[in-house]
Amino acid sequence: MKKYLIIIVLCTLTFIIGYKLKPNNNNPASETTTSSPTKTFHWKMVTTWPPNFPIFQTGAEQLAKDIETMSGGRLKIKVYAGGELVPALETFDAVSQNAVQMGHGAAYYWAGKVPAAQFMSAVPYGMTAKAMNSWLYNGGGLELWRELYKPFNLIPFPAGNSGVQMGGWFNKKIESVADLKGLKMRIPGLGGKVLSKAGGTPILLAGGEVYTALERGNIDATEWAGPFHDKRLGLYRAAKYYYYPGWHEPGTTLELIVNSKAFAQLPKDLQKIVEIATQSLNQRIYTTFEALNIKALKELTEKHHVELLEFPPEVLKELRHLTTEVLNEEAAKDASFKKVYEAYKKFQADNAQWNVISEDAYSRALEQ
Ligand code: CA
Repeated sequence: MKKYLIIIVLCTLTFIIGYKLKPNNNNPASETTTSSPTKTFHWKMVTTWPPNFPIFQTGAEQLAKDIETMSGGRLKIKVYAGGELVPALETFDAVSQNAVQMGHGAAYYWAGKVPAAQFMSAVPYGMTAKAMNSWLYNGGGLELWRELYKPFNLIPFPAGNSGVQMGGWFNKKIESVADLKGLKMRIPGLGGKVLSKAGGTPILLAGGEVYTALERGNIDATEWAGPFHDKRLGLYRAAKYYYYPGWHEPGTTLELIVNSKAFAQLPKDLQKIVEIATQSLNQRIYTTFEALNIKALKELTEKHHVELLEFPPEVLKELRHLTTEVLNEEAAKDASFKKVYEAYKKFQADNAQWNVISEDAYSRALEQ
């Protein structure tokens, strides 16, 4: 009797093991790949960030580690900071040409090639992190993003968010729209175009040059990111006033780009690991920013006595009006910008309506 029982157990085990090892023929990825399920992939990721840049570069490196762990070592990714393998702003081309398989950066860096890509990172008076994630994952945003990058053989994934950035550092108070006239400010992209319409002069400066330019008075003001990174750059030593909110970058989304041919070579389980690990990075970067910004802002105001000021309503209203002009002008120049702008605007408006009766109303309730 005991002998029969052992035979039954052994047969059952053999069946289970055999079943588990059997390739799944329903797996669509198995039709596109010739690799065996035990093959190890050695990939490279380049980024747009300086070496050891906290949250951004360290986030990309953590993603590589997570993917390696989750894949049981079958997908190993070596990460290179900007300039280590290719210059930071060649990340898009390097991945597009499959010179490397992955890149981490932000979509607005590629505005020169794909103007509509700016909606996938940040536009002035655009959506916050919460709204962006809802739009990208569930509101059709990610489909539009994939369509934009398809001609470049790239698959984009949302891969981090800065949250609402700060308005920037100023050495004179901004009390009216007139104070923006003649203002030399480091502010890139569409935000810079808006400032220009308001009579200011946007200046393009790389991160490493910002502090010195402000300290020497070559610029009157600068935006950078949020309290955590602004404190790290020491901007509080070069300017008196710290303005909010960051109307020009209300929730900058970061991206992971993967070469589509390289992605198709991965078995389906590794593809899924890349997707889910990147979703986790997207959330981790955002929540890290939120937690560290709270702490850094306290230090800036309490320890370094930074004067925290809100832009006056009149200034914010005018900048918003000028933003609409800038976005409409860009839409008139580029058909896909127009298409994405329409979809983005619609989701933003619907989301704002919901916000009025959810988060906004709740914030008011807390003030009672
Ligand atoms: Ca910024």
